[in-house]
Amino acid sequence: MAYSYDDTNIFARILRGEIPNKTVLETAHTLAFHDINPSAPVHVLVIPKGAYVSFDHFCSAASDAELVDFHRAAAKVCAQMGVSLEAGDGFRAITNAGQHGLQEVPHYHLHIVGGRPMGRMIAKD
Ligand code: AMP
Repeated sequence: MAYSYDDTNIFARILRGEIPNKTVLETAHTLAFHDINPSAPVHVLVIPKGAYVSFDHFCSAASDAELVDFHRAAAKVCAQMGVSLEAGDGFRAITNAGQHGLQEVPHYHLHIVGGRPMGRMIAKD
């Protein structure tokens, strides 16, 4: 099945400037902003500006420039938020995909969460 991008999703609307966001960092291909409902003292979403649904879609279809820009931006977010291993005590990077991943917003995003110990990674039930 081909990836199908719905450009009415909330992050597409943020990228078009239709909805405000609390920007942490913006680069040529990437936007990072605070999650509206944070799960930890630090909770930032890093998204590509391109129309990618999920991690696997982005990693298989994005250009080299987009891929490099995204990951460098994510590292800068970690440093800027004081959770990188150089600046702080670490973080968790999470991305949910599709139905089994319980992805709510169908535009690829990486959650950077930290500022406290993050607990177990995955519930066993
Ligand atoms: P996921 O379940 O991985 O798709 O995560 C979606 C995330 O987007 C959740 O953590 C929401 O709190 C967050 N979110 C939804 N709407 C907004 C918004 N307008 N601004 C910032 N974060 C949002």
